[in-house]
Parts: sequence; structure tokens; C-alpha cells
Amino acid sequence: MPARSSRSGDAQRPRLSGNHATTASGIKAQALSPAEGARRRAAANDTSAANPCLSCGACCAHFRVSFYCGEIAGESGGTVPPELVTQVSPLRACMKGTEYGGRRCVALRGELGHDGIHCAIYEQRPTPCREFQAWLDDGTPNPDCQRLRKAIGLQPLAPRTDDDGDDGLHPNTNPPRRGDVAA
Ligand code: SF4
Ligand code: SF4
Repeated sequence: MPARSSRSGDAQRPRLSGNHATTASGIKAQALSPAEGARRRAAANDTSAANPCLSCGACCAHFRVSFYCGEIAGESGGTVPPELVTQVSPLRACMKGTEYGGRRCVALRGELGHDGIHCAIYEQRPTPCREFQAWLDDGTPNPDCQRLRKAIGLQPLAPRTDDDGDDGLHPNTNPPRRGDVAA
């Protein structure tokens, strides 16, 4: 989620580098019919659900997902499939599709805001994706997550308590998980 090339000066922010100029408008938000809006709210706003990302995916269509080249699979021992990566500098790469922000990552499968959206390389995803969370450590919703959800017509998340997680811990919600290997 998900600008994953650091936005300096905000320790709480994800290391997803984002193009804020294109952010809100860059996401392909759709006009929703009342029925579809109700369906989405029902699907995505049940804060008792363990993982709201499974019906969202907004952060994966917003940020520039930038990371150190050593995370690319190969001799360096990285995990990110090289065919899904664009080299943006001698030491940095980003997920294809996210080069300029405001567009979908190539590994994102499904329709934004709909059930079943997921990351096709979940187990191999780069560090920025692992660090971006729907909730902060204190259980408050991540403001960036809230903003992106709103941009695609989803309701904000409620704060979490330790009792909300299956094992008393905040789940690693982002990025969406459903199918661990690229299809
Ligand atoms: S709920 Fe938040 S963290 Fe999860 S996919 Fe949506 S924007 Fe990303
Ligand atoms: S690699 Fe996966 S988690 Fe990361 S931006 Fe792409 S779809 Fe989202």
C-alpha cells in the first residue's frame, strides 16, 4: 500500500512513495450505484473482519512502490520477481505500474474495492508492501489507508483493540492477500 519511496519526515507513514498530485484522482474511482455502494460497505466495513484489505486494494493502486534492488530475486537473495520490476536508478527499483504513482501495481489482481482483490506475489512482495498497515501500532487506523479507502468509495476503518485480532495481535493486513503466487 498501497508511496513506497519514502516520504521523509513522517515516521508513521509507509515507505511507499506516493505521487500525491495524482493520488486521489489517479485511482480509478467509479461512480457507485446505491445498491453497489451498499454492497461494498457491507463487504468492506465490517471492522470485525480480520483483513479489510481483501475487499480494498487501494494502496496498491496509489503509491510508487519503490525499494532497494537487493530485494529483486536473483543472486542477491531477494524475492521480488524481476519481470515485475522497473529499475528506476542504479540502486532502486519499483513495482511495474507504480512508476509514477496513481496506477495499479502489476501484481494486483481483482477489482479495487471488491471482494477477492489480492496481491499475486504476496510472499515475495517488497519491503514497503510489508510495512504499510491498515492500523498503526496503537490500533488507530492509518490515515493514509483511510484516505485511500475513501477515494474508492469505502468507509473508514474503526480503531482496533488487541481483542480484535485472532491471537490478540494486530494482523498484517496489507497488502491484500488471496493467492500467494502470481497467476
Ligand atoms: S485497507 Fe488500507 S492497507 Fe488494506 S488494501 Fe485498503 S488502503 Fe491498503
Ligand atoms: S507487490 Fe503486491 S502488495 Fe505490493 S503494491 Fe503490488 S500488489 Fe500491492
